[in-house]
Amino acid sequence: MDFASDNAGGASPRILQAIIAANAGFTAAYGEDEFTRDAAVRISDAFERDCAVFLVTTGTAANALALAALTPPWGAVFCHEDAHICDDECGAPEFYTGGAKLVGLHGPQGKITAQGLSDALDLYPRGRVKQVQPAALSLSQATECGTLYTLSELADLTDLAHGAGLGVHMDGARFANAVETLGCTPAEASWKAGIDVLSFGATKNGALACEAVIVFDTARAADLPFRRKRAGHTLSKGRFLGAQMQAYLADDHWRELARGANEMAARLAHGLAAIPGIRAPWPRQVNEMFVVLPGAIDRALRQAGARYYDWGTRGLTAMQAPGADESFVRLVTSFATTHEQVDYFLRIARTAAGG
Ligand SMILES: *Cc1c(COP(=O)(O)O)cnc(C)c1O
Repeated sequence: MDFASDNAGGASPRILQAIIAANAGFTAAYGEDEFTRDAAVRISDAFERDCAVFLVTTGTAANALALAALTPPWGAVFCHEDAHICDDECGAPEFYTGGAKLVGLHGPQGKITAQGLSDALDLYPRGRVKQVQPAALSLSQATECGTLYTLSELADLTDLAHGAGLGVHMDGARFANAVETLGCTPAEASWKAGIDVLSFGATKNGALACEAVIVFDTARAADLPFRRKRAGHTLSKGRFLGAQMQAYLADDHWRELARGANEMAARLAHGLAAIPGIRAPWPRQVNEMFVVLPGAIDRALRQAGARYYDWGTRGLTAMQAPGADESFVRLVTSFATTHEQVDYFLRIARTAAGG
């Protein structure tokens, strides 16, 4: 019962098979191979637009490169204060951009509000030499709270950003899970909603190690071949990245994997909602859920070998915050999570709750 993260599981067998198949024979190196070229075509097809595509091995590299394409070293990148780029990337965005400043904005349930962005823009006027200059907005979809921006919220934020001359990045480590829940097309969830550059995650959703920087406004991609090489993310045997992305996209495999993960989270959320004493401060939308557990249930679950993380309570109101003998935890499912794992977890929680 591992609900610690969506990367606690392995890789999708279909993607592993594709890597093995790509092993045969000789190809051009450094991403000039047919696997990588085909992966880029498949991405352009999936997103209904010609895209510039750069494959890398980690989401941190994808985010940091994407931001480097959008901001000068003296730029400001507006993001949520709990964003992965702000909290979990050890300064990689600052490093890859040559020193841009991340400005973390407060907002409920992991989301930036239009008012919050507008207030922040007021604090960074253009031309004031003492201050970093507004350059980019970065939105996580799904957010670090497992919540989603609606398409109209995205449009409001990206309109505001573009109006102020910012480029817009989306951290889509869980883009697949988000698209499944939103029920829209990948294009509607990205460039049609005003996203200029997308970090398109695959690793958490079943790849071995592969993420794509997708640049919709291809004029912004001119420097990225050099930035990626300089960052050490231009793989000489690039075919193995290409093969992963090919298999991820083929036959909508990525959608199917995300659907599975989301369904397991829905099953978990449904079961937990019926157990007295467990409460969720906000609704589950993708493959992550956040719950306050009574201490007895938390201890019983951990005793039975369940793995999951305690989570920071900064995003909770006083009403939502855990009490004396309660824990606030994050539970994440993945394509590899099974019904049996979810049901066993629920059984232990129910028993510990006295039912
Ligand atoms: C996991 C994750 C990433 C990517 O992290 P890596 O460990 O560098 O692959 C980026 N953004 C979010 C929101 C994530 O959850």
